Amino acid sequence: MENVKRACVYCASSNKVHPKYIESATETANELASKGIEVVYGGGSSGLMGRLADRMLELNGRIIGVIPEFMKKVEWDHPHATEMHVVPDMHTRKRMMLENIDLIIALPGGCGTFEELLEAITWKRLGLVTAPIVIVNTDGYYEPLIQMLGKSVEENFMRPEHAGMWSVVRTPSEIWDALKASPQWGRNAIDFAAV
Ligand code: AMP
Repeated sequence: MENVKRACVYCASSNKVHPKYIESATETANELASKGIEVVYGGGSSGLMGRLADRMLELNGRIIGVIPEFMKKVEWDHPHATEMHVVPDMHTRKRMMLENIDLIIALPGGCGTFEELLEAITWKRLGLVTAPIVIVNTDGYYEPLIQMLGKSVEENFMRPEHAGMWSVVRTPSEIWDALKASPQWGRNAIDFAAV
């Protein structure tokens, strides 16, 4: 994908998850590093975040962390990331992670990942971000959330066009087909933000 230079990846901090989820971070790094795409992520060293960063580095890819100061103080940051931006708070981190990106990927995660993903969708609805959002639904992990998003369209909390804001794939290798199929999103998305 020659027009994708930088991707923002949201994913879990937990180390306790099934290896199939950790594997989705490995595969995502394989996909992105092989295409020379740099990655912005939450800067952590544990869970899917840590694996994503380690694999990007193994493949000589660029991995850029954005971590709040309080997390750095307790040494949650990855020690070898290509760049590590230490920011004052969570809000600054989330805003910075969405700067100058061409693609947003959500891998399995907990409440932190849900929040990040839903904020990206909310901002896209308002035209504040325009990048494609791809949800990697490893072994059906995201099924309940995908159903909830669908229900919000069905019940007119969002318009049918809004369902084009995100795509769902089963494995990271399917990201590229999802990108090709995802509708162009304009800054004027706010024009149809209201139902
Ligand atoms: P979760 O999906 O709940 O594991 O959250 C992932 C997100 O939570 C990250 O992007 C961070 O906002 C935050 N987070 C929680 N624990 C950590 C950690 N140990 N290191 C770095 N970030 C963390």
